[in-house]
Amino acid sequence: MLQRKGRDISKISRAFYIGRFQPYHIGHHTVLSSIAGEVDEIIVGIGSAQRSHEPENPFTAGERVVMVSRSLKSLDIDYYVIPIEDIQRNAVWVSHLRSMTPHFDLAYTNNPLVLRLFEEAGVVVKRSPMYQREVYSGTAIRERMLTGAEWEHLVPDAVARVIGEVGGLSRLQEICADDLR
Ligand code: ATP
Ligand code: MG
Repeated sequence: MLQRKGRDISKISRAFYIGRFQPYHIGHHTVLSSIAGEVDEIIVGIGSAQRSHEPENPFTAGERVVMVSRSLKSLDIDYYVIPIEDIQRNAVWVSHLRSMTPHFDLAYTNNPLVLRLFEEAGVVVKRSPMYQREVYSGTAIRERMLTGAEWEHLVPDAVARVIGEVGGLSRLQEICADDLR
C-alpha cells in the first residue's frame, strides 16, 4: 500500500481554505498550521484575485501567491495556492471554485457567507477559530503600514520580505494619498 505520513495515499484528504490575504498574516498562518495537522493536503484560495493597487487590496494575486507559498514551506504539508477571481454571483460560487481547484473533501472557514454557500452545495465544512483577531487582522496591518507603526511582527518573515521586495509599503501609501496638485 502506498503510504504518506502512515496513511493510504489512495485516500488522501484535501482541505480548502480561502482568504484575500491582503496581506497573509499570523492569524491565517495559525489556522493553516492547525489544519495541516488534520489533513494530508491543503488548497489555499486567493480570493478577489483580480483586485490589487487598492487601499483594501494593495497586493496582486501573484504577490499573494508568493506570500502564502513561501510561508507554508515551514509547515509539514503539501499545498496548492490558487488565485480565485470574484464572480459576483454567489449562487454558483462553489461551482466556480471547483472549476479552478483540485477536488477537496472539506473546507475550513469562519466566514458566515462562505459557510452557507458551502453547506448549500453539500460540502463538509469545519469552523476555523479566530486567533487574536484584535491583533492579527489585514485591516489593522494595513492601517499600521499607513501610519508608520511597526507591522512586520504581525506577518510571517516571508511575507515581510515579499512586501519589501515589491515596494508594498510605498505602494500602499501612494494609493491612499490625495491627488497630486
Ligand atoms: P481584512 O481585514 O482585510 O478583511 P482579514 O484579516 O479579515 O483581512 P481575510 O483575508 O479577509 O483577512 O480573511 C481570510 C479568512 O481568515 C477570513 O475567514 C477571516 O475571518 C480569517 N481570519 C482573519 N483574521 C484571522 C485571525 N486572526 N485568526 C483566524 N482567522 C482569521
Ligand atoms: Mg476579512
